[in-house]
Amino acid sequence: MSAVTHMLATDLDGTFVGDTNGLKLLINYYESLPYEVTLVYITGRHLESATSLIKEENLPIPKLLVTDVGTSIYEGDTWQADPKWQKKMKKDWNPDAIRAVAKDFPQIRVQQLPDDRRVSFQIEADNSSALAGKFKMALETAGIAHKFIFSSGRDIDILPTGSGKGEALRFIVEKYTNSDTSILVAGDSGNDLEMLTLGYPSVIVANSQEELLEIEEHPKLYRATKNCAGGIHEAWMHFYG
Ligand SMILES: [Mg+2]
Repeated sequence: MSAVTHMLATDLDGTFVGDTNGLKLLINYYESLPYEVTLVYITGRHLESATSLIKEENLPIPKLLVTDVGTSIYEGDTWQADPKWQKKMKKDWNPDAIRAVAKDFPQIRVQQLPDDRRVSFQIEADNSSALAGKFKMALETAGIAHKFIFSSGRDIDILPTGSGKGEALRFIVEKYTNSDTSILVAGDSGNDLEMLTLGYPSVIVANSQEELLEIEEHPKLYRATKNCAGGIHEAWMHFYG
């Protein structure tokens, strides 16, 4: 594929999806433009869950779909996994060791997933942030290579070290774009933090989780006044309109 001229790299839940009117507005706007905006969806969902959402919400088929918090990259349409990325994700990845450490934390419940490409948990406690910190420390003490992501004051995703939404986006940008490509990154919660701070024009939608409100300001970071896709539309106008 030749380098894309414009790319929207967006989280799904609470960002691209969540406000039907805003999404209609954004899609109509993109269709009215003289250039094509290449869509990349970057979600915490697993493949089946993400493709169901695409179907249910009647979302445009993206060029690429990144699932499981950046641990898998699929081509749109065929949902073929990127073999190079898959190989990278297997390096030093030990999900059994992570689950074994989690057994010491009864308030941290493991999430049932179709495979082992990430290990995810939910915390059921008032002091979730402190508990997440202790769990992280225990993994470090055990010497287990991992990346730790805490979102929405409740969700913990443990990923292979070189993964995450930011690393996956960096890989995609390198593979599919050139220095002239106009990029916008959009997100609403903690697992989007990495990709929102890579230095590309980025938008934090108005309905974002508290953990993103604390991001340091930078000239390419836009805080939308509108929710979800309405906020993406607002930011696209701001950067490229
Ligand atoms: Mg989200």
